[in-house]
Order: sequence, then C-alpha cells, then structure tokens
Amino acid sequence: MKTLIQTDCCEGNSERTLASIDETVSRALDLCSPPQETENVLLPEAVGRVTAGDTISLFSLPIHEHSAVDGYALGGAGKNPFAIVGRRIAGDNPKGRIRDNEAMRIMTGAPTPAGTCAVVMQEHARVTDGIVTPDFNVPPGDNIRRVGEDVKASDTLVRSGTRLDARHTALLTASGYRSASVVRTIRVAVFSTGNELRDTGVGMGPGHIFDTNRPMLKTLLSSGNVDVSDFGIVPDTRDEIVRVLKEAAASHDLIITSGGVSVGEEDHLKPAVIEAGGAIESWRMAIKPGKPIALGNIGKAVYLGLPGNPLACFVDFLLVGRPILDGLTGAARRAALVQQAKAAFHWERRAGRHEFFPCNIVGTSDEGLPLLEKTGRAGSARLMPLIEADGLGAVNAGCATVEPGSRLEFYPFRADMGL
Ligand code: AMP
Ligand code: MG
Repeated sequence: MKTLIQTDCCEGNSERTLASIDETVSRALDLCSPPQETENVLLPEAVGRVTAGDTISLFSLPIHEHSAVDGYALGGAGKNPFAIVGRRIAGDNPKGRIRDNEAMRIMTGAPTPAGTCAVVMQEHARVTDGIVTPDFNVPPGDNIRRVGEDVKASDTLVRSGTRLDARHTALLTASGYRSASVVRTIRVAVFSTGNELRDTGVGMGPGHIFDTNRPMLKTLLSSGNVDVSDFGIVPDTRDEIVRVLKEAAASHDLIITSGGVSVGEEDHLKPAVIEAGGAIESWRMAIKPGKPIALGNIGKAVYLGLPGNPLACFVDFLLVGRPILDGLTGAARRAALVQQAKAAFHWERRAGRHEFFPCNIVGTSDEGLPLLEKTGRAGSARLMPLIEADGLGAVNAGCATVEPGSRLEFYPFRADMGL
C-alpha cells in the first residue's frame, strides 16, 4: 500500500513543494479507469452520456435526392422555356420523370423527379401559360441535394468516448437511430465533514453553519453521467469517517468529500483514507484558493478530498473534479476551459501561487479580448463575489502586480458545468 502521506513539518513552507494543477490532474487521471459496462439509452435521454463505441451510419444522408428550394425541377440546364408537367411536395413518392424540355413545380424537401438536371428558385423564374423560364443560365446540379453528400452509408457518425449533446441527437436520429450505446453512469458518493455543519432546517444552534458544499457539489455533479449517493454530514471523528469511506468505496467509482483535508487537529481525512485501506497520491496544490486538496484511492474508488471553504471547494472541483469525471467516463478530455483575457484593474498581490478570483466581463480590449473586473474581494470562504461573476479570472504564480491591460486567464462559467 502506498503511504505517501507525510506530516506537515516535513513538507516545508515553500510553495515549490506544492503540486501544480497539471501535475495534480495528471495524477488524478492515472487513478481513473472507465467502467466496462455499457447500456442502450433512448435518444434524447442519452444526452450527457458518453458513447461506448463508434456508431456507424446505416443510411446515406440525404436519404433521397431532393430539392433545396421552392421552385421548378428542370429537365435541362440553361434558361430555355420548360413546359410544366406536374407538381411535387415534400413527402411525395419519387415516382415519375421529366424530359429535356420539361419542368416540375417542386417544394423544398420534395424528391426530385428522375431526369432533373437542376432546380431553379421560384424567385428566379417567370411562369406564363404553363411554361417556366429561368431568369439566368441555371447551372447543372443547382439546388439539388444529392444522396450521401452529408453522410455516406457506413461512415462513422459518432466516435467512442463522445459526450452526447443536441448535435449528436440530431445526427443519430437523422440516421435512424433511436438509442445510443453508452458507458454506464458513474457512481459518486458525496459527504461533508465537520461538527459545525447542519443541513438547512435541521437543528441549527450556536456555532453551527449550514452545509453549503454538499448541495453545491451535487449541483456541479448534476450531469447525465453521474449517479450521486448522498452520505450526508459526517462528524469530525476518525472512526466514523473511516466507516463511511469504507462503505462508500465498496460501491462507488468516486468519493468526494469536503472539509478536513488541511493540517489541523480535526483534519482527519488523509489518515482516514489510509486507515480505510486506501492511499493518498497528492494532497496540496499550488493554487489560491484551494491549496488543501487530497487525491488518492480506496480500492477501485478514486478519492477526492476537497477543502471546506466553499470558494476553495468550488475552484478545486472545477479544476480537478471535472477532469476526474471525464477520466472515469472515458470521455475525451473537454477542450481547455481557459481563454485569454485582460485586466481592467490594478492589484498588488503576494506571488507564489496560481490565484483564482471571481470576475465579470466589463468590456473588450483593443485586440478583442474580454476585459475583466474582480467582483468584490475574493476570499476562500466568500460566496457573494461568485453571484455577479461571469467566470474565474486567474494570474500565474509568479505575478506580483496586475495593471490594467495585463494578461489574465479566464475560465468562463457555462451551463454544462451546472453553473
Ligand atoms: P476545514 O477544511 O474542515 O478546515 O474547513 C475550513 C472552513 O470551511 C471552516 O470555516 C469550515 O467551517 C468551513 N466549512 C467546512 N465544510 C463546509 C461546508 N460543507 N459548508 C460550508 N462551510 C464549510
Ligand atoms: Mg473541518
């Protein structure tokens, strides 16, 4: 069993002993292996789930040749007069044909009759006495959607490891699929630790606070991929924490806790993970807020211990928790959330840690980058600045002064993050 855990006195105070975000995420991903079990889920309920294999097209798209416009199917190219010999609307059977000098009135989506050389838009044609004359030389193939020009039968429609969204629902259903084969949902156990915590409406007294992190994490986890088991609030008692960790590890892919991962006397999580038969891989990250974060495993379950301060818990979940979910579902890593931005403010800070702060977009720089302003004074326990924010801004560890116009990182909030 790995016993990488050390006492804090051995770690030194240097920020250099802390792991970077990338190191922590890569260690986290090493701990993740996606489940083998798959299931078929009807569309569109399968949205948010991750595909278990490649999906091959059974049909060509378009499935039949049809008109892209309301107009006239022409038996030849050019601008000669064509005699109108019929009318065809979407849904009509494609039987029947036109000859060189003939045309057929046709609506968007209707199958083109055999012999169609091109379709002229009704706006570009004149009709008199059953004869249609195009206004210009209509080139062959104009306004015809050919069979297979979008998808050919046996093309790969959606690759394995794709997180399904509305685009995949559209392509798969257009190709005749009613359901998708997806990886089974990830089982995530969540609990909070702290004697001071109470659920809203339950036994609040002096010295107590409402448990904020558990409901927040459950919201952040509310994607289609995750079944959350709520293990409630666990008091700061080593034995009790060990008991719950063991129980959760037996039937979950991931255990997420909040609180108790720093180095105080009542911070029991790291030793409890070891006592429950697990290992701790990493436990501090060079960021602010969110330095205390524990990462490891108990048997097959990945363990993620988030800090108790709510903003720190939130930041660490976005930076490390989300990649873990991708790793566990076998989903291709999501494109980096980070964008380039510029500061609209002045800020002197203590260099040393990569620092994150809630901010909103207040304009656009000359180069077209978002200009960011901090939303209030950030602190690892403060929630109000998040409410106004469009995302998290960040400065690198080495930066001591931010001037208006300084480059910043920007992590925009998005609905698919539960935000
Ligand atoms: P800890 O990480 O347990 O040392 O807690 C750090 C701070 O976060 C303390 O002020 C705790 O009261 C607070 N805290 C811990 N867990 C929660 C929670 N679930 N919701 C709100 N605040 C919390
Ligand atoms: Mg605590």
